[in-house]
Amino acid sequence: MTHRIAVIPGDGIGKEVMPEGVRALQAAAERFGIALELAPFDFASCDYYAEHGQMLPGDWFEILKEFDAIFYGAVGWPETVPDHVSLWGSLLQFRRRFDQYINLRPCRLLPGIKSPLANRQPGDIDFYVVRENTEGEYSSVGGRMFEGTEREVVIQETVMTRHGTDRVLKFAYELAQSRPRRKLTSATKSNGIAITMPWWDERVAEMGRHYPEVAVDQFHIDILTANFVMHPDWFDVVVASNLFGDILSDLGPACTGTIGVAPSANINPEGTFPSLFEPVHGSAPDIAGRGIANPIGQIWSAAMMLEHLGHQEASAAIVAAFEAVLAEGDEAVLTPDIGGRGTTETLGRAIAEQVLSE
Ligand code: ATP
Ligand code: MG
Repeated sequence: MTHRIAVIPGDGIGKEVMPEGVRALQAAAERFGIALELAPFDFASCDYYAEHGQMLPGDWFEILKEFDAIFYGAVGWPETVPDHVSLWGSLLQFRRRFDQYINLRPCRLLPGIKSPLANRQPGDIDFYVVRENTEGEYSSVGGRMFEGTEREVVIQETVMTRHGTDRVLKFAYELAQSRPRRKLTSATKSNGIAITMPWWDERVAEMGRHYPEVAVDQFHIDILTANFVMHPDWFDVVVASNLFGDILSDLGPACTGTIGVAPSANINPEGTFPSLFEPVHGSAPDIAGRGIANPIGQIWSAAMMLEHLGHQEASAAIVAAFEAVLAEGDEAVLTPDIGGRGTTETLGRAIAEQVLSE
């Protein structure tokens, strides 16, 4: 069976890290005899917007729904297109229309990378953030009244549904159950947000009745962020609403030394629609065009994609390869964000060679 993958580099460093993501993917496919068909697309980028006045072609849904997965770089070039226009016109359309209701982000301190937290070693930070990805605080329900006058009123609602909440909780419990520690932490704020969040807590408790082996705790989002910094070793699987998950899944990778290595999966678990795999980082206009972006976030996303497509071994081989290259710590190979003087390409090539040589 051939897996069909849509490859969308997007903007800025997305265009630089994507070739390295593809290189690692092809190396793993070669070693494990996996048939891949990669189809590149130039849409969902600000260059495409400049030419067409929109981020996506009118028939994007029909085009992309035929693929088994979407491999994405990064979106955003605020100099030409405001961020909310480029983001809502591309990635957020994919997440919603393809019902990618799970945003899964591993936070793991890798060998050879220094955490900004004092005295943290690999093994101390190793958890997943499971973020609700289609509703909640990012539902875009609300409006402005009396705009520009003294009576101006602005309202934006949070929309949580039982269906939407239970399915992300179920995914998080299943993940926690599959891990050795079997621990789930829920992000809440039921003291301040007194309608939706107490209800979220009830759904967490209710779903937990089906998973008696999983130990559950909960923290208000404010102290939870503090504990990410003070006690990252406490966490195994963390489940959160869309907004809280967004915050936690930037903070988590930051605690592991560089945002440049962090991957993410936007998953439609039923497989009705393609899932999307992309690095956590954005298009990084500040370093774009210099060939120094760390490609590991893109490469690790390729590993998550292979796992999703059922290729556990190939996925593990990519992770083992970048861990080996990082542990070796050759400054001529590593990118500047992790203390090297190499380039996106030197690091990407070293990882792909390692995949083939193991
Ligand atoms: P977004 O809003 O699109 O998620 P952002 O604009 O908040 O992203 P990024 O584009 O991720 O932020 O950049 C944040 C910082 O991290 C920048 O200083 C950028 O140079 C750095 N950075 C991001 N990705 C990488 C990478 N792969 N390698 C090295 N540095 C990176
Ligand atoms: Mg940005």
